[in-house]
Amino acid sequence: MKNVLCARCIRCGKTYEPTPGLTTCACGGILDIEYDYDFIKQSATKAFFASCQERTMWRYRAFLPIEPQTPLPPLRVGATPLYDVPRLAKAAGIARLWLKDDGLNPTASLKDRASALAVVKAREAGAHTVACSSTGNAASSLAGNAAAAGLPAVIFVPSRAPQGKVAQLLIFGATVISVEGSYEDTFRLSAQAIEEYGWYNRNAAVNPYLMEGKKTVAFEIAEALGWEMPDYVAVSVGDGCTIAGVYKGFYDLHAAGLIERIPRLLSVQAAGCWPIHRALRENAPLRPMEENTLADSIAVGVPRNPDKAMNAIRASHGVTVEVTDEEILAAMRLMGRTCGVFGEPAGVAGTAGVLKAAAQGLIESGASVVSIVTGNGLKDTANGIRAAGEPIRMPPDMRRLRQALQERGVAQ
Ligand SMILES: *Cc1c(COP(=O)(O)O)cnc(C)c1O
Ligand SMILES: [Zn+2]
Repeated sequence: MKNVLCARCIRCGKTYEPTPGLTTCACGGILDIEYDYDFIKQSATKAFFASCQERTMWRYRAFLPIEPQTPLPPLRVGATPLYDVPRLAKAAGIARLWLKDDGLNPTASLKDRASALAVVKAREAGAHTVACSSTGNAASSLAGNAAAAGLPAVIFVPSRAPQGKVAQLLIFGATVISVEGSYEDTFRLSAQAIEEYGWYNRNAAVNPYLMEGKKTVAFEIAEALGWEMPDYVAVSVGDGCTIAGVYKGFYDLHAAGLIERIPRLLSVQAAGCWPIHRALRENAPLRPMEENTLADSIAVGVPRNPDKAMNAIRASHGVTVEVTDEEILAAMRLMGRTCGVFGEPAGVAGTAGVLKAAAQGLIESGASVVSIVTGNGLKDTANGIRAAGEPIRMPPDMRRLRQALQERGVAQ
C-alpha cells in the first residue's frame, strides 16, 4: 500500500506496519492509519473524480488502506444520495440543509462502509472466518457483506437484540450466538472466541480499518457539494467511531488539497445516554452512563472509541447537543413528512440535533448543514409507528370513508 505510511497509537504514539490483521497497540490504545498525502495527491484530483465511473465507496480507494490487487467485495456500498431539503431547513430555521441518506446502503445502515472494508482486509489477512459482537447494525452489515463475499461469519449478540436485526443476521447465514447476558458479557465472550479460533476481528475500536471505511461518507458529501464545504455536519454518536470517521474523511480531503476547510461537527447524543458529551463539557475522563434511550444504536454507556471522537469534535471546533426520545420521534415524523426519508431512531438523531441546536441558537440561522441519516427506519418499525401514529381503521364502507376523510379535511 504505497498510500499508507504506518499505523500509529493515538495514546502512546508507537507506530506499526499496516498489516491486514492489525488490532490495538500493545499499550491498549487504538491505532490510527496515517497516509502519504503527497502520494495520494498525484491521483486523487478533482479531474480524476469528474471522470471516475466507479459508483461505490471504492471510488475513493486512493484514500483507502487496501492493496491494489485485492478483489473488491460485490455489494454496492456507498454512493448514497444527498438530498437538498428546503422545507426541513425552513422548519429548522436555518439557511440550507441536506440529508445524506445512508440508510440506503445494502444492509440499510452506514455500518456497511466499515464492514465492506473489514471484509477486504479479512481476505488480505487470509482469514477463513470473520467475527464480531454487536447489538445491531455492525453485526447485520458484517453478516451481509461477508455473505456476499463468500466468507463465513460468527456473530455474538446479547439475547435482548432487536428481532429485525437478528432476522438480517440469520438470513445472511451467519452463525448467530445469542448470549444470555449484557452487551459487555457478549463482547468478552466474542473476544475470547476470536483469540481461540483465530477469526478475523471486526469489533468496533479494536480494528483500525473500520473507521477508514466510514470516512467515505465524508468524501461523498464533499464531492456532491462540488468540494464546497457546509458550515456543519451533524452525526449521531454512540461508540464514537462514526463521527471520528467523518472527521478523518474531511481531514484527508483537506490534506490532499481537495477542500479548503473542514466543516464543524455537530455531535448529537441522546439525553438519556451522553457520556462523550459529558466528558467533553467537564473536561474530565469519561465515566460510564446508563443507557436510557429508545435509540438503540447510540445507547452506549461505555463508548469504545471516545478518544478519537473527542479529538474529532474538538479539532473541528464542534458543537455538542443532546436530544430526548420525544425530540427523536418528532424529528423522525418531520423528516418523513417533509423529505420522504425514514430513519431509525439513531438514524434521525442527527437531524433532531440540528433542529434543537438551531432552536437554542447553538448554530446560526444563516448556517448550512449536512445531516447524516445513519440507519433505515424499517429496522425498527415499532418506533416508527410510535412516532407517526395509527392508520384510520374502518370496515370496507364508502360512506364511512367519506365521513372519515371529511372529518380530517382530506377530501376537498
Ligand atoms: C452505529 C450507529 C451510530 C453511531 O456510530 P458510533 O460509531 O457507535 O458512534 C449511529 N446511528 C446508527 C444507525 C448506527 O448504527
Ligand atoms: Zn500505544
